[in-house]
Amino acid sequence: MLNPFDTEERKAFRDVMANFVASEITPFADEWDEAGEIPWSLHQKVGALGAFGFGIEEQYGGLGFDDCFMRAAYSEELSKCGATGVGAALGGRTISIGPIQDLASEAIKQRCLADIVSGRAGSSLAITEPSGGSDVANLKTTARKDGGDYVLNGAKTFITGGMKSDYFVVGARTADAGLKGISLFFVDADTPGFSRTALPRKMGWWASDQASLYFDDCRVPAASMMGEENRGFLAIMNNFNYERLGMVAGMLGMMKVCFDEAVSWARERETFGAKLISHQVIRHKIADMSARIDMVEAYLNYICWQANAGPMPVAEISKAKFSASKALEFCASEAMQILGGAGYLRGNRVERMYREVKIQAIGGGSEEIMRDLAVRQMGF
Ligand SMILES: Cc1cc2nc3c(=O)[nH]c(=O)nc-3n(C[C@H](O)[C@H](O)[C@H](O)COP(=O)(O)OP(=O)(O)OC[C@H]3O[C@@H](n4cnc5c(N)ncnc54)[C@H](O)[C@@H]3O)c2cc1C
Repeated sequence: MLNPFDTEERKAFRDVMANFVASEITPFADEWDEAGEIPWSLHQKVGALGAFGFGIEEQYGGLGFDDCFMRAAYSEELSKCGATGVGAALGGRTISIGPIQDLASEAIKQRCLADIVSGRAGSSLAITEPSGGSDVANLKTTARKDGGDYVLNGAKTFITGGMKSDYFVVGARTADAGLKGISLFFVDADTPGFSRTALPRKMGWWASDQASLYFDDCRVPAASMMGEENRGFLAIMNNFNYERLGMVAGMLGMMKVCFDEAVSWARERETFGAKLISHQVIRHKIADMSARIDMVEAYLNYICWQANAGPMPVAEISKAKFSASKALEFCASEAMQILGGAGYLRGNRVERMYREVKIQAIGGGSEEIMRDLAVRQMGF
């Protein structure tokens, strides 16, 4: 689709990403997904492209500028490798890097940020707990002030990249009152009292790991608090917007994979003496998929334009997230139907996309929570 907001720089960045994905990721995506991990060198290669540096100052290894179109191009092109677990394996870092720059102490940033931005070190965002992820206001991990330290106790789960990350941004309760009692902490993985275990087999995103994290009298210096005490949730809200914008772009890439696979199969496959693509029912499916792709793409471009101009269009991002996961669900299902039995086989990109739809509808704010947020933002 023609993007009226394209510039030479944006097109160049997208081309770099697309070529990189085609040569360095797509040929290995299947193998990495089956193996359950990506090589660490991929973090560094993607870091070298500057893809982790949006909104990060140059002194910390970042690009020194931000651009939501480029952020979106990164996520969309990455998901075109056909195994979105690869993007997830890199994504623990992308959802924690912003809060580290915006909220961590200067000493922490000097010590860690350039390593994270370059891909040498890993970081994750740890909010969800065994008792729930949607109701963040009710999180139960505690951080008790003790002299010059905070002592963390509790558990997190589903933390993407958690088995390999060196650093964690952790939400913990520092006061009783709901959202206004949550603070953020920067925790090194080698802090005594911190431990982790890998989550068992998952429906999709195999190339990435998710961990449960345990804080057992885990003592961190008071300077590890990120931002102001009891203002952690408010401080991290904007970060969720970037995460969701990236997810919408990733879903757009997934829809395009489904579409391309379905069309190329329909052009080859013959039934009842004619190519599948010549049957009207199949042609309608292709039209319906294409229309949904165009709508998500146009909406995403509008959101990127608004986000660049500021402030963040929170209602639109929330609406885009649940509409994109619904559109993706449709496209994956229709593509699978067009491929017939062939689409059901492991190793087929559509088979994987079909399994990876649900995490898009649940992670980063579920469809239900996105609808609630959108309506609240609309003032009702
Ligand atoms: C593969 C994967 C990776 C993840 N990575 C991370 C990560 O890196 N960091 C992190 O912090 N978390 C991560 N998560 C957690 C994710 O953000 C949560 O799964 C999500 O927020 C939903 O929380 P929950 O699973 O606890 O569901 P719950 O909050 O228990 O909700 C269960 C269901 O009920 C619905 N629901 C809840 N409340 C309402 C309501 N009021 N009205 C209507 N419906 C409602 C929800 O939408 C959901 O469908 C990840 C999850 C997965 C599966």
